Amino acid sequence: MLRQPLLMLARSDKVKKAVTAMPVSSGIVHRYVPGESTESAVDATRELIESGLHVTLDFLGEDTFDREQADATVAAYLDLLRSLTENGLSRNAEVSVKLSAVGQALPDQGEKVALDNARSICQAARNAGTTVTLDMEDHTTTDSTLGILRELRKDFPETGAVLQAYLHRTEADCRDLAYEGSRVRLCKGAYNEPESVAFQDKHEVDKAYVRALKVLMAGQGYPMIASHDPRMIDIAGALATRNGRAQGSYEYQMLYGIRPDEQRRLAEAGEKMRVYLPYGQEWYGYLMRRLAERPSNLTFFLHSLVSK
Ligand code: FAD
Repeated sequence: MLRQPLLMLARSDKVKKAVTAMPVSSGIVHRYVPGESTESAVDATRELIESGLHVTLDFLGEDTFDREQADATVAAYLDLLRSLTENGLSRNAEVSVKLSAVGQALPDQGEKVALDNARSICQAARNAGTTVTLDMEDHTTTDSTLGILRELRKDFPETGAVLQAYLHRTEADCRDLAYEGSRVRLCKGAYNEPESVAFQDKHEVDKAYVRALKVLMAGQGYPMIASHDPRMIDIAGALATRNGRAQGSYEYQMLYGIRPDEQRRLAEAGEKMRVYLPYGQEWYGYLMRRLAERPSNLTFFLHSLVSK
Protein backbone atom coordinates (compact mmCIF):
# COMPACT_ATOMS: atom_id res chain seq x y z
CA MET A 1 0.00 0.00 0.00
CA LEU A 2 2.89 2.37 0.79
CA ARG A 3 4.94 1.39 -2.26
CA GLN A 4 3.39 3.88 -4.69
CA PRO A 5 3.43 6.94 -2.41
CA LEU A 6 7.05 6.22 -1.44
CA LEU A 7 8.06 5.88 -5.09
CA MET A 8 6.32 9.17 -5.84
CA LEU A 9 8.21 10.82 -2.98
CA ALA A 10 11.44 9.45 -4.49
CA ARG A 11 10.89 11.95 -7.33
CA SER A 12 9.92 14.92 -5.09
CA ASP A 13 12.56 17.66 -4.91
CA LYS A 14 10.80 19.32 -1.95
CA VAL A 15 10.85 16.21 0.24
CA LYS A 16 14.37 15.41 -0.92
CA LYS A 17 15.57 18.87 0.23
CA ALA A 18 13.87 18.50 3.59
CA VAL A 19 15.17 14.99 4.23
CA THR A 20 18.72 15.46 2.99
CA ALA A 21 19.11 18.72 4.93
CA MET A 22 18.98 16.62 8.08
CA PRO A 23 22.15 14.89 9.17
CA VAL A 24 21.31 11.25 8.48
CA SER A 25 24.79 9.80 8.65
CA SER A 26 23.75 6.76 10.62
CA GLY A 27 20.73 4.51 10.94
CA ILE A 28 18.97 3.32 7.85
CA VAL A 29 20.94 5.35 5.29
CA HIS A 30 24.11 3.71 6.50
CA ARG A 31 22.57 0.28 6.21
CA TYR A 32 22.15 0.74 2.45
CA VAL A 33 24.91 3.28 1.61
CA PRO A 34 28.29 2.70 3.25
CA GLY A 35 29.64 6.22 2.66
CA GLU A 36 29.77 9.38 0.61
CA SER A 37 33.44 9.49 -0.48
CA THR A 38 35.45 7.40 -2.96
CA GLU A 39 37.65 6.38 -0.03
CA SER A 40 34.72 5.00 1.97
CA ALA A 41 33.43 3.13 -1.10
CA VAL A 42 36.86 1.60 -1.72
CA ASP A 43 37.16 0.57 1.94
CA ALA A 44 33.74 -1.12 1.86
CA THR A 45 34.67 -2.80 -1.45
CA ARG A 46 37.89 -4.17 0.05
CA GLU A 47 35.99 -5.64 2.98
CA LEU A 48 33.47 -7.37 0.70
CA ILE A 49 36.16 -8.74 -1.63
CA GLU A 50 38.15 -10.05 1.33
CA SER A 51 35.07 -12.02 2.37
CA GLY A 52 34.87 -13.72 -1.03
CA LEU A 53 32.33 -11.44 -2.74
CA HIS A 54 32.46 -9.44 -5.98
CA VAL A 55 31.24 -5.85 -6.16
CA THR A 56 29.60 -3.40 -8.56
CA LEU A 57 29.82 0.25 -7.48
CA ASP A 58 27.26 2.95 -8.20
CA PHE A 59 28.16 6.63 -7.77
CA LEU A 60 24.76 7.87 -6.63
CA GLY A 61 22.93 10.44 -8.73
CA GLU A 62 20.17 10.40 -11.32
CA ASP A 63 17.99 12.66 -13.47
CA THR A 64 20.76 15.18 -14.16
CA PHE A 65 19.58 18.22 -16.12
CA ASP A 66 22.91 20.00 -15.88
CA ARG A 67 25.89 19.33 -18.16
CA GLU A 68 28.45 20.20 -15.48
CA GLN A 69 26.90 17.75 -13.06
CA ALA A 70 27.00 15.02 -15.72
CA ASP A 71 30.71 15.76 -16.28
CA ALA A 72 31.31 15.67 -12.52
CA THR A 73 29.69 12.21 -12.38
CA VAL A 74 32.02 10.96 -15.13
CA ALA A 75 35.00 12.41 -13.22
CA ALA A 76 33.83 10.61 -10.06
CA TYR A 77 33.72 7.26 -11.92
CA LEU A 78 37.20 7.83 -13.38
CA ASP A 79 38.53 8.67 -9.93
CA LEU A 80 36.86 5.56 -8.50
CA LEU A 81 38.29 3.27 -11.21
CA ARG A 82 41.77 4.75 -10.62
CA SER A 83 41.46 4.15 -6.91
CA LEU A 84 40.17 0.57 -7.34
CA THR A 85 43.18 -0.16 -9.58
CA GLU A 86 45.69 1.40 -7.18
CA ASN A 87 44.22 -0.68 -4.37
CA GLY A 88 44.37 -3.89 -6.40
CA LEU A 89 40.56 -4.30 -6.33
CA SER A 90 39.52 -3.74 -9.94
CA ARG A 91 39.63 -7.41 -10.93
CA ASN A 92 36.71 -8.16 -8.58
CA ALA A 93 34.88 -4.83 -8.74
CA GLU A 94 33.06 -3.29 -11.70
CA VAL A 95 30.86 -0.18 -11.92
CA SER A 96 27.13 0.38 -12.50
CA VAL A 97 26.11 3.58 -14.27
CA LYS A 98 22.74 5.32 -14.58
CA LEU A 99 22.61 7.03 -17.97
CA SER A 100 20.36 9.77 -16.54
CA ALA A 101 23.26 10.73 -14.28
CA VAL A 102 25.62 11.24 -17.23
CA GLY A 103 23.35 13.37 -19.41
CA GLN A 104 20.60 11.20 -20.98
CA ALA A 105 17.88 13.62 -19.80
CA LEU A 106 19.60 16.81 -20.99
CA PRO A 107 17.26 18.70 -23.32
CA ASP A 108 19.92 19.27 -25.95
CA GLN A 109 21.47 16.09 -27.42
CA GLY A 110 21.07 14.21 -24.14
CA GLU A 111 21.48 10.76 -25.70
CA LYS A 112 24.68 11.74 -27.49
CA VAL A 113 26.13 13.29 -24.32
CA ALA A 114 25.22 10.16 -22.33
CA LEU A 115 26.76 7.88 -24.97
CA ASP A 116 30.01 9.88 -25.07
CA ASN A 117 30.17 9.97 -21.28
CA ALA A 118 29.40 6.26 -20.97
CA ARG A 119 32.16 5.58 -23.52
CA SER A 120 34.71 7.43 -21.34
CA ILE A 121 33.69 5.34 -18.33
CA CYS A 122 33.80 2.08 -20.37
CA GLN A 123 37.31 2.93 -21.62
CA ALA A 124 38.52 3.68 -18.08
CA ALA A 125 36.93 0.44 -16.86
CA ARG A 126 38.62 -1.53 -19.61
CA ASN A 127 41.98 0.08 -18.75
CA ALA A 128 41.36 -1.02 -15.16
CA GLY A 129 40.62 -4.58 -16.35
CA THR A 130 36.96 -4.43 -15.43
CA THR A 131 33.49 -3.74 -16.86
CA VAL A 132 30.49 -1.40 -16.77
CA THR A 133 26.82 -2.32 -16.37
CA LEU A 134 24.15 0.21 -17.42
CA ASP A 135 21.44 0.40 -14.76
CA MET A 136 17.86 0.53 -16.04
CA GLU A 137 15.61 3.40 -14.92
CA ASP A 138 11.92 4.12 -15.54
CA HIS A 139 10.19 2.78 -18.66
CA THR A 140 10.36 6.08 -20.54
CA THR A 141 14.13 5.51 -20.81
CA THR A 142 14.19 1.79 -21.75
CA ASP A 143 14.41 2.19 -25.53
CA SER A 144 16.98 4.96 -25.24
CA THR A 145 19.10 2.94 -22.77
CA LEU A 146 19.00 -0.20 -24.91
CA GLY A 147 19.90 1.92 -27.97
CA ILE A 148 22.92 3.41 -26.17
CA LEU A 149 23.87 -0.10 -24.99
CA ARG A 150 23.85 -1.34 -28.62
CA GLU A 151 26.16 1.51 -29.64
CA LEU A 152 28.49 0.97 -26.68
CA ARG A 153 28.69 -2.77 -27.29
CA LYS A 154 30.18 -2.15 -30.76
CA ASP A 155 33.39 -1.01 -29.03
CA PHE A 156 32.84 -2.44 -25.55
CA PRO A 157 30.97 -5.75 -25.99
CA GLU A 158 31.58 -6.54 -22.33
CA THR A 159 29.12 -3.80 -21.22
CA GLY A 160 26.28 -5.21 -19.12
CA ALA A 161 22.56 -4.50 -19.51
CA VAL A 162 19.74 -4.53 -16.96
CA LEU A 163 16.23 -5.79 -17.70
CA GLN A 164 13.26 -5.37 -15.35
CA ALA A 165 10.90 -8.34 -15.08
CA TYR A 166 7.86 -6.17 -14.25
CA LEU A 167 7.80 -4.65 -17.77
CA HIS A 168 5.58 -6.50 -20.27
CA ARG A 169 8.29 -6.17 -22.92
CA THR A 170 11.06 -7.84 -20.94
CA GLU A 171 10.68 -11.46 -22.01
CA ALA A 172 11.17 -10.33 -25.62
CA ASP A 173 14.13 -8.14 -24.62
CA CYS A 174 15.66 -11.18 -22.89
CA ARG A 175 15.43 -13.15 -26.15
CA ASP A 176 17.14 -10.30 -28.02
CA LEU A 177 19.93 -10.06 -25.47
CA ALA A 178 20.58 -13.75 -24.69
CA TYR A 179 23.48 -14.03 -27.15
CA GLU A 180 27.04 -15.13 -26.51
CA GLY A 181 29.08 -12.64 -24.52
CA SER A 182 26.01 -10.62 -23.51
CA ARG A 183 25.91 -9.82 -19.79
CA VAL A 184 22.33 -9.25 -18.60
CA ARG A 185 21.26 -8.40 -15.06
CA LEU A 186 17.67 -9.43 -14.41
CA CYS A 187 15.87 -7.58 -11.60
CA LYS A 188 12.18 -7.25 -10.73
CA GLY A 189 12.13 -3.45 -11.23
CA ALA A 190 12.10 -0.61 -8.71
CA TYR A 191 10.11 2.27 -10.25
CA ASN A 192 6.48 3.38 -10.12
CA GLU A 193 5.21 2.16 -13.50
CA PRO A 194 1.71 2.35 -15.05
CA GLU A 195 -0.44 -0.70 -15.74
CA SER A 196 -0.11 -0.10 -19.47
CA VAL A 197 3.56 -1.15 -19.42
CA ALA A 198 4.14 -3.13 -16.23
CA PHE A 199 2.66 -5.91 -14.10
CA GLN A 200 1.33 -4.42 -10.84
CA ASP A 201 0.71 -7.55 -8.81
CA LYS A 202 3.68 -9.06 -6.95
CA HIS A 203 2.78 -12.61 -8.05
CA GLU A 204 2.55 -11.52 -11.67
CA VAL A 205 5.97 -9.87 -11.36
CA ASP A 206 7.42 -13.03 -9.80
CA LYS A 207 6.01 -15.19 -12.60
CA ALA A 208 7.39 -12.78 -15.20
CA TYR A 209 10.80 -12.93 -13.46
CA VAL A 210 10.83 -16.72 -13.78
CA ARG A 211 9.84 -16.60 -17.47
CA ALA A 212 12.61 -14.09 -18.20
CA LEU A 213 15.12 -16.08 -16.16
CA LYS A 214 14.29 -19.23 -18.13
CA VAL A 215 15.12 -17.41 -21.37
CA LEU A 216 18.41 -16.03 -20.04
CA MET A 217 19.57 -19.28 -18.41
CA ALA A 218 18.79 -21.29 -21.56
CA GLY A 219 20.52 -18.69 -23.75
CA GLN A 220 24.15 -18.16 -24.70
CA GLY A 221 24.77 -15.03 -22.60
CA TYR A 222 25.91 -14.41 -19.03
CA PRO A 223 22.87 -14.02 -16.71
CA MET A 224 23.20 -11.89 -13.58
CA ILE A 225 20.42 -12.86 -11.16
CA ALA A 226 19.70 -9.70 -9.17
CA SER A 227 17.22 -10.64 -6.47
CA HIS A 228 17.01 -11.20 -2.72
CA ASP A 229 13.99 -13.42 -3.14
CA PRO A 230 14.79 -16.95 -1.86
CA ARG A 231 12.40 -18.47 -4.42
CA MET A 232 14.09 -16.75 -7.35
CA ILE A 233 17.48 -17.87 -6.07
CA ASP A 234 16.34 -21.50 -5.76
CA ILE A 235 14.77 -21.41 -9.22
CA ALA A 236 17.96 -19.92 -10.71
CA GLY A 237 19.95 -22.79 -9.17
CA ALA A 238 17.56 -25.37 -10.62
CA LEU A 239 17.70 -23.70 -14.05
CA ALA A 240 21.51 -23.69 -13.94
CA THR A 241 21.44 -27.47 -13.39
CA ARG A 242 18.77 -28.04 -16.05
CA ASN A 243 20.76 -26.04 -18.62
CA GLY A 244 24.10 -27.61 -17.72
CA ARG A 245 25.53 -24.28 -16.61
CA ALA A 246 28.65 -24.48 -14.46
CA GLN A 247 29.12 -22.14 -11.48
CA GLY A 248 30.69 -18.95 -12.79
CA SER A 249 28.80 -19.05 -16.11
CA TYR A 250 26.18 -16.87 -14.35
CA GLU A 251 26.22 -14.86 -11.14
CA TYR A 252 23.96 -13.76 -8.29
CA GLN A 253 23.70 -10.11 -7.30
CA MET A 254 22.24 -8.41 -4.22
CA LEU A 255 22.20 -4.89 -2.84
CA TYR A 256 24.61 -3.78 -0.14
CA GLY A 257 23.05 -4.24 3.30
CA ILE A 258 20.31 -6.67 2.22
CA ARG A 259 20.57 -10.35 3.24
CA PRO A 260 24.36 -10.23 3.86
CA ASP A 261 24.29 -13.73 5.39
CA GLU A 262 22.72 -15.13 2.22
CA GLN A 263 25.36 -13.30 0.15
CA ARG A 264 28.11 -15.07 2.09
CA ARG A 265 26.29 -18.42 2.01
CA LEU A 266 26.09 -18.36 -1.79
CA ALA A 267 29.76 -17.35 -2.10
CA GLU A 268 30.79 -20.13 0.29
CA ALA A 269 28.80 -22.59 -1.83
CA GLY A 270 31.07 -21.68 -4.76
CA GLU A 271 28.64 -19.32 -6.51
CA LYS A 272 29.79 -16.01 -7.93
CA MET A 273 28.06 -13.41 -5.76
CA ARG A 274 28.25 -9.69 -6.52
CA VAL A 275 27.16 -6.91 -4.16
CA TYR A 276 25.78 -3.65 -5.60
CA LEU A 277 27.43 -0.92 -3.56
CA PRO A 278 26.07 2.64 -3.88
CA TYR A 279 28.00 5.60 -2.49
CA GLY A 280 27.92 9.41 -2.64
CA GLN A 281 25.78 12.24 -1.35
CA GLU A 282 22.80 11.73 -3.68
CA TRP A 283 21.33 8.85 -1.69
CA TYR A 284 17.77 10.13 -1.43
CA GLY A 285 16.12 8.49 -4.52
CA TYR A 286 17.98 5.23 -3.93
CA LEU A 287 16.93 5.08 -0.28
CA MET A 288 13.28 5.85 -1.06
CA ARG A 289 13.18 2.94 -3.54
CA ARG A 290 14.61 0.64 -0.86
CA LEU A 291 11.97 1.85 1.63
CA ALA A 292 9.26 1.24 -0.98
CA GLU A 293 10.42 -2.38 -1.25
CA ARG A 294 10.32 -2.76 2.53
CA PRO A 295 7.89 -0.23 4.05
CA SER A 296 8.48 -1.85 7.46
CA ASN A 297 11.82 0.04 7.40
CA LEU A 298 9.96 3.34 7.33
CA THR A 299 9.58 3.55 11.13
CA PHE A 300 13.31 2.89 11.51
CA PHE A 301 14.01 5.63 8.92
CA LEU A 302 11.76 8.22 10.60
CA HIS A 303 13.35 7.39 13.94
CA SER A 304 16.84 7.94 12.54
CA LEU A 305 15.74 11.39 11.28
CA VAL A 306 14.31 12.62 14.55
CA SER A 307 16.87 11.05 16.84
CA LYS A 308 19.85 12.96 15.33
P1 FAD B 1 11.29 -8.73 -3.40
O1 FAD B 1 10.13 -9.63 -3.63
O2 FAD B 1 11.08 -7.26 -3.42
O3 FAD B 1 12.01 -9.10 -2.06
C1 FAD B 1 12.33 -10.42 -1.68
C2 FAD B 1 12.89 -10.40 -0.27
O4 FAD B 1 14.12 -9.69 -0.24
C3 FAD B 1 12.03 -9.68 0.75
O5 FAD B 1 11.04 -10.52 1.29
C4 FAD B 1 13.05 -9.24 1.78
O6 FAD B 1 13.40 -10.34 2.60
C5 FAD B 1 14.24 -8.89 0.93
N1 FAD B 1 14.26 -7.46 0.57
C6 FAD B 1 13.93 -6.95 -0.66
N2 FAD B 1 14.09 -5.61 -0.66
C7 FAD B 1 14.52 -5.28 0.58
C8 FAD B 1 14.86 -4.03 1.19
N3 FAD B 1 14.81 -2.89 0.52
N4 FAD B 1 15.26 -4.05 2.49
C9 FAD B 1 15.34 -5.21 3.17
N5 FAD B 1 15.02 -6.42 2.64
C10 FAD B 1 14.62 -6.45 1.36
N6 FAD B 1 15.93 -2.03 -10.18
C11 FAD B 1 15.78 -1.29 -11.30
O7 FAD B 1 14.66 -0.88 -11.61
N7 FAD B 1 16.86 -0.99 -12.08
C12 FAD B 1 18.11 -1.45 -11.82
O8 FAD B 1 19.05 -1.16 -12.58
C13 FAD B 1 18.29 -2.26 -10.67
N8 FAD B 1 19.51 -2.75 -10.35
C14 FAD B 1 19.59 -3.65 -9.32
C15 FAD B 1 20.81 -4.27 -9.06
C16 FAD B 1 20.90 -5.25 -8.10
C17 FAD B 1 22.21 -5.93 -7.89
C18 FAD B 1 19.75 -5.62 -7.35
C19 FAD B 1 19.81 -6.71 -6.32
C20 FAD B 1 18.57 -4.96 -7.55
C21 FAD B 1 18.47 -3.97 -8.51
N9 FAD B 1 17.28 -3.30 -8.73
C22 FAD B 1 17.14 -2.52 -9.85
C23 FAD B 1 16.17 -3.38 -7.73
C24 FAD B 1 15.17 -4.47 -8.06
O9 FAD B 1 14.46 -4.13 -9.22
C25 FAD B 1 14.18 -4.71 -6.91
O10 FAD B 1 13.47 -3.55 -6.66
C26 FAD B 1 14.80 -5.17 -5.60
O11 FAD B 1 15.90 -6.00 -5.83
C27 FAD B 1 13.78 -5.95 -4.76
O12 FAD B 1 13.34 -7.08 -5.46
P2 FAD B 1 13.69 -8.59 -5.03
O13 FAD B 1 13.98 -9.35 -6.28
O14 FAD B 1 14.77 -8.61 -4.04
O15 FAD B 1 12.35 -9.19 -4.50
